[in-house]
Amino acid sequence: MALSLPVRPMISEQSEPPEPSAPVVSAEPAARQHLLAMDIAALRELLCQLAEPAFRAEQIRRWVFQRRATTFEGMSDLPKKLRDSLAERLVIFRTQTALHQQSNDGTEKLLVRLADGGEVECVLLRDGNRRSICVSSQVGCAMGCVFCASGLDGVQRNLTRGEIVEQMLRLQHLLAPAERLSHLVMMGMGEPLANLTEVLAALDDARSPGGLGMSPRRITISTVGIPAAMDRLAARGIPYNLAVSLHAPNDRLRTQLVPVNAKIGIDAVLAAADRYFQTSGRRLTFEYVLLGGVNDSSHNARQLAQVLRSRAVMLNVIPYNPVAGLPYVTPAAEAIDEFREILEAAGINVQFRQRKGDEIQAACGQLRRNRQTLPLAEKT
Ligand code: SAH
Repeated sequence: MALSLPVRPMISEQSEPPEPSAPVVSAEPAARQHLLAMDIAALRELLCQLAEPAFRAEQIRRWVFQRRATTFEGMSDLPKKLRDSLAERLVIFRTQTALHQQSNDGTEKLLVRLADGGEVECVLLRDGNRRSICVSSQVGCAMGCVFCASGLDGVQRNLTRGEIVEQMLRLQHLLAPAERLSHLVMMGMGEPLANLTEVLAALDDARSPGGLGMSPRRITISTVGIPAAMDRLAARGIPYNLAVSLHAPNDRLRTQLVPVNAKIGIDAVLAAADRYFQTSGRRLTFEYVLLGGVNDSSHNARQLAQVLRSRAVMLNVIPYNPVAGLPYVTPAAEAIDEFREILEAAGINVQFRQRKGDEIQAACGQLRRNRQTLPLAEKT
């Protein structure tokens, strides 16, 4: 979808985020290609080699994205010969669901096993008519935020487009036939802006009418704040919502909580967020995990209000979700109320995120790479 606002010039290749630190997995070693890692042009090309009309590409994608097909055999309006040739050349799903958990509040979490044995988690959240999914972008995370489970074991690698799309489809398959996914957040494991190329390709499938058909305005990309990648996202010109994980109103505290801040600094993050707002016209969201006795004082709240006052933002405060082995605590109810009152009195648009899925460890920051190992046991 094009934007009516002027789009910033493309950012040079040099300013791209350091993606090579977590390389994309190499192409399928077997002869069969991964359908969900292909864009429609690649699929059309394959069909052309099979002397089939190009419209079959839309037909196949409709089966997978809208009719929830998991095999070519089930694509009943394709000629049998074509179904067989496709099955010889392509696999639709390369991952497996290793575990499916359900919480009493309607939240469901999947542990998805990748072809190389790596594992990621993704979540379906139900809220009224909303059917939101939370999707991972990397196996683990390199950002090292001290309160988050996803980075406890570091990063193993970036996910491919197909692996990201498979999470979306596996979560879609949990819905009743008449239900549709309404919202998507890139807030699972990993830093989406450290794997921007694959994330954007997967989101093309989430929003294209021949894919999942979700409006980009209902898609949110959450980042720790990598300015060059935020600019690259803005230059793409698609009105995704951007959420910036701030967690502290000053550099001293932020660097303690979000170690990559040491190299970036809060001012550079805020400036990049401002540029994203100017380019996209989308109101920004800032996220703030509230940690008892760490970043929840009235002084922190006043300083935060000062930082946000001049900006058209939504502040999303997330009271800390406990992570086994980490020393942090959820603030007491009075501290949360006081924090909220100070921000509201300063005119900040603030919402406190409701905790969902914590009984199955599916809440924000509770998704992790190695379910079996406790963080402290690993460090010894
Ligand atoms: N790497 C991205 C996206 C993943 S995290 C980012 O940092 O934004 C999604 C949100 O959950 C982030 O705001 C993150 O800081 C928050 N989060 C992480 N651990 C948490 C915890 N234990 N309790 C509550 N929120 C947490």
